[in-house]
Amino acid sequence: MLDNFKIREVQLEKKDIVIKGLSKSFDGVQVIKNIDLEIKAGEFFSILGPSGCGKTTLLRILAGFIESDSGVVYLGDKDITNLPPNLRSTNTIFQKYALFPHLTVYENIAFPLRMKKMDSDYIDTEVKKMLKMIELEEHASKKPNQLSGGQQQRVSIARALVNKPEVLLLDEPLSALDAKVREKLRNDIKMLQKKLNLTTIMVTHDQEEALSVSDKIMVMESGKIMQVGTTREIYEKPQSLFVADFIGKINFLNDGSSIRPEHIKIVSEVDTESENKTIMREIESWEYLGPSYRLFFKNNKEVLKVEVPCSMIDEKNLYVGSKFLLELDRNHYINFDSRV
Ligand code: ATP
Repeated sequence: MLDNFKIREVQLEKKDIVIKGLSKSFDGVQVIKNIDLEIKAGEFFSILGPSGCGKTTLLRILAGFIESDSGVVYLGDKDITNLPPNLRSTNTIFQKYALFPHLTVYENIAFPLRMKKMDSDYIDTEVKKMLKMIELEEHASKKPNQLSGGQQQRVSIARALVNKPEVLLLDEPLSALDAKVREKLRNDIKMLQKKLNLTTIMVTHDQEEALSVSDKIMVMESGKIMQVGTTREIYEKPQSLFVADFIGKINFLNDGSSIRPEHIKIVSEVDTESENKTIMREIESWEYLGPSYRLFFKNNKEVLKVEVPCSMIDEKNLYVGSKFLLELDRNHYINFDSRV
C-alpha cells in the first residue's frame, strides 16, 4: 500500500522519549509503579504484559488522556508531562476505530486538518495523498459503516498520520480484526513506520505481533517493567522466568536450566562426540500444528515441550508411552539471574 507514498518533505528533528519516575494510582491502587524508560526516536516499541498490568494506562499517560500522579515525560528536550493531547504531537490509534460515523472517509481524514483551520487546497492535497497511501481512493465518499474492519483501521491510520505526528501511539490496533487482515495490516504499519522513521509505541496482547513488528519490546507485570530489550534479547535472553514464560514457550528442566522447544531435537542414536545432553523420554500427548507437531514428554515434574517438523516424525510412532531419544542443545540453555 505504500509504494507511491512520498516521505514527508521535511524530516522532523528526531526526538527521544524519556520517562522518569512515572506513577499512577486508581482508587488507592498503584497501577504504574515508578517507571523509568527511554524510547529512541524512530523506534517501534511494543508494550506487552498480562491483562491489567498497566499497559493501556501507560500509553494513555503518554498520549495525555490520563494525568500521572508523579513523574515526568519528555519528548526531546521538551517536558510534555502536563500538555493536553492536542498539543503533544502524539497521535493515538485505538482498537475500536473511533471514526466519525456521520462523516465520509475523506472527511474523517480531513478532520484534524480542518480543526487546525488549514487551507482547503492543502487539506485536499494531503487527504488525497493519504487515501492513496491506504489504497482507499475509490472509497473516499463512503461512510465508515460501509467499510470492512481492516479498511476502517486504515482510515484511522491515515487520520492519525495526516497530522504528521512525531509519535504514533497504537492501542491494540489490530485486535478486532481477523488473522489474515491482521497480518497484512501489521506489515503495512511496520513498512510505513520504517519509511517515515516514526517513533511508534504499541500496546498489544499478542506476542507474535510484538516480535514481528518491533525493534524493542518492554514486558510489564503489575505496573513494573520486567525487561526492556530488542526482540532477540527478550526471546533469547529473558532475564526472568516470568519473561521467558510470557514470550514464547519454555521448558524448565529438573537441573534448573531452561530451554526453548526448538532447541530440543529428536535423534535416533546418542552422538558420543556431541557435548549436548541426550535423554530418553516417553510421550504423553501431542498436538498437530500443520507444519509441525508439538510433543509433550513427561518425567516426574519435568514436562518437555518439543516442536518437530511433521516430516521428521512417523505418525505410527505417536502414541502415549512411545519412547523418543531427545538431544538438548546446551548452547541454548537459558539461565536466569533471578528466579522471579
Ligand atoms: P488489558 O490488557 O486487559 O487492556 P492493561 O495492561 O492495559 O490491561 P490497564 O487498562 O492499564 O491494564 O489497567 C491497569 C489497572 O488499572 C487495572 O486493574 C484496571 O482495572 C485499572 N484501571 C484502569 N483504568 C482505570 C480507571 N479509569 N479507573 C479505575 N481503575 C482503572
